[in-house]
Amino acid sequence: MIAILQAGGAGTRLKAISGNLPKPMVPIGGKPILEHEINNLVENGITELYIVISKKGKSIPQYFGDGSSWGAHIHYLMEEEPLGTGGVLALLHDVIQDDFIFCFADLMFHLSWSKFIAFHEQSGAAITAFAHPNSHPYDSDVLVADSAGFISRIESKNEPRLLPYENLTNAGLYVAKKEVADFVVDPVKIDFEKVILQHFIEQQKANVYRSSEYVKDCGTPERYEMVCQDLKEGIVFQKSLDHPQKCIFLDRDGTINRYQGYVTRLVEMELLPGAAKAIRSINHSPYLAICVTNQPVVARGEVTETELQMIHRKMEDLLGEEGAYLDDLYYCPHHPDKGFPGERIEYKIECSCRKPKIGMLLKAQEHYHIDFKESWMIGDTYRDVETGYNAGCKTILLTSGDPHKGTPDHHIQPDFVFPTLEEAVSFVLSKDGTSVDKKEKTK
Ligand SMILES: [Zn+2]
Repeated sequence: MIAILQAGGAGTRLKAISGNLPKPMVPIGGKPILEHEINNLVENGITELYIVISKKGKSIPQYFGDGSSWGAHIHYLMEEEPLGTGGVLALLHDVIQDDFIFCFADLMFHLSWSKFIAFHEQSGAAITAFAHPNSHPYDSDVLVADSAGFISRIESKNEPRLLPYENLTNAGLYVAKKEVADFVVDPVKIDFEKVILQHFIEQQKANVYRSSEYVKDCGTPERYEMVCQDLKEGIVFQKSLDHPQKCIFLDRDGTINRYQGYVTRLVEMELLPGAAKAIRSINHSPYLAICVTNQPVVARGEVTETELQMIHRKMEDLLGEEGAYLDDLYYCPHHPDKGFPGERIEYKIECSCRKPKIGMLLKAQEHYHIDFKESWMIGDTYRDVETGYNAGCKTILLTSGDPHKGTPDHHIQPDFVFPTLEEAVSFVLSKDGTSVDKKEKTK
């Protein structure tokens, strides 16, 4: 597979740091950002690289030459006229014979490309966008996708948002079929996202690949400092799904949001004090934050899955306002007991995902390569403790929820008990040697 690295564009400068260097040449840990990208691609067996440069980007070929020192074959495409971010595809019809990678050359990333490519191939989409939650969704364009991952639209940060939205931002990395390149007929100025991605969204042929791996833009001095620090601390590499991941699985009701019976209306979704701060600390640590929740209200017919999705989006928005995000969320809509008025019979099954069964954790494990032994389950009921125990995770019981929910007549006891999520998380992270305060300060 070939990769096209877009280093042309308007020749953006990160002046405060780079002086007159093009942004892909800005050093992080002593190497240009682009060199980190090339190393990551080559490690994944992607060696045929086409780098698009503008007239201002001549330092790029001067530094990388033909790429042989990096184990790559680098070809350069010099833009005579600005072609936007996507117009260059018209010049590559002969080169692109099959699926290809398209990415921006000014992003710090380190990922398992084979996982991303396999996901793209299975999805059947013409183009798959790498997407992830971030700490400032209110200030980002977000993707709206259905449960199968197909993108229905891009919601601009400049438009008022009347409804809760999913914290899912487009990172600027794509795997695409040849038809995406063929769509660009003439080498004229075309924006990759606004025109090309938008076209395939309208055709219902664009999909998202949700990942917790490290992809960050270093567009401001603050973000640049953060990326340098993450590289130094090994977080950039650790988050690659080639490596086993550590996760803190979180229950929802009584753990993240206030427990006042099951939430069936948006207004009832309220975060517990300190929950966003706790999750923000997880976000700045090597751990993933993944919510796993039983929602039998769906089986009982009290909310539809669409309404439940809105409730979850509201939770994400409330977290996002405080700079926190969940790497993912899994819910079980089922319940085994039949015979109630209004119930949805199709959900009344003995499933494998309802906690204390571990179906949701297994799904997360498969997607995020999670090592259960290095992971934790935190929740306010003995059912959560049992779930964590069944998966082989360490467990923490919180006393923040409803003390009557779940009966402690169990032979399985939690490893630790804390009053709040904040205390539980700071215990886990301090045990792990991750300094919570250090990262909090740079926010
Ligand atoms: Zn289930």
